[in-house]
Amino acid sequence: MMKALLQVLAMVVAAGETAAQGAPQDDQCVRERAAMVETIRAYARSAGSSLGPQGLPERVLEAMAQTKRHLFIPERSCSIAYADSPVPIGLGQTISQPYMVALMTALAEVAADHVVLEVGTGSGYQAAILARLARKVCTIEIIPQLAETATKTLRDLAYDNVSVRLGDGYDGWPECGPFGAIIVTAALGHVPPPLVDQLNVGGRLVMPVGAGFSTQQLTIVEKIAPGKTTTRAVALVRFVPFTRSQN
Ligand code: SAH
Repeated sequence: MMKALLQVLAMVVAAGETAAQGAPQDDQCVRERAAMVETIRAYARSAGSSLGPQGLPERVLEAMAQTKRHLFIPERSCSIAYADSPVPIGLGQTISQPYMVALMTALAEVAADHVVLEVGTGSGYQAAILARLARKVCTIEIIPQLAETATKTLRDLAYDNVSVRLGDGYDGWPECGPFGAIIVTAALGHVPPPLVDQLNVGGRLVMPVGAGFSTQQLTIVEKIAPGKTTTRAVALVRFVPFTRSQN
């Protein structure tokens, strides 16, 4: 078990090192990335989508088109990176399916002047998408190796408006906020009250609510006035569990 974990970790670290080489990879996976964007655009317009007939905002699709997902995953194959599926990133965690990343970003209504909080950095891919759409992104990851690798990947790719913090995101990050939008990428049975406290009026929090490893409700909490929110569930989803630190 430990050996398998170490192997996965070695892959994650190796992935971070390749990212450091930067520019020569710029022309890789162009076709696959464009195809991924068309797949999620079409799906967003279909009846199965929880978005209206207008589908995903063009600026979210543009961010997806510009962000090199293959540099955030341990296995850097173009076909794996740009299939519309989740991908393991080691330590039992996964990077969400691209459509889910786009959907959560759209539902959070991230705007150019927002400071955005993400809980569950994982690979750093969702943070990179948010970084293209918002003024600043603060993201918290509870697993040290993932926080370290994501920090390095984001730094090597010059995402200068993202701060990664190691810790339990339940209590949010008050010094970084308040936030125009909050995205939680791990499942918990309830919405952490400190996160709602750190949301600006008019802001939205998007997270999977329910037990980890089962089916959850993708939930939008909107702060309509100080101390006042509305909550609605928009889709059934499946995320890894939100874990709590032991201390
Ligand atoms: N957004 C990520 C995918 C995240 S998977 C990406 O784009 O790659 C969910 C992540 O949430 C995992 O990395 C997991 O370790 C992390 N996580 C779980 N509970 C957490 C908590 N309490 N605080 C911060 N991160 C947490």
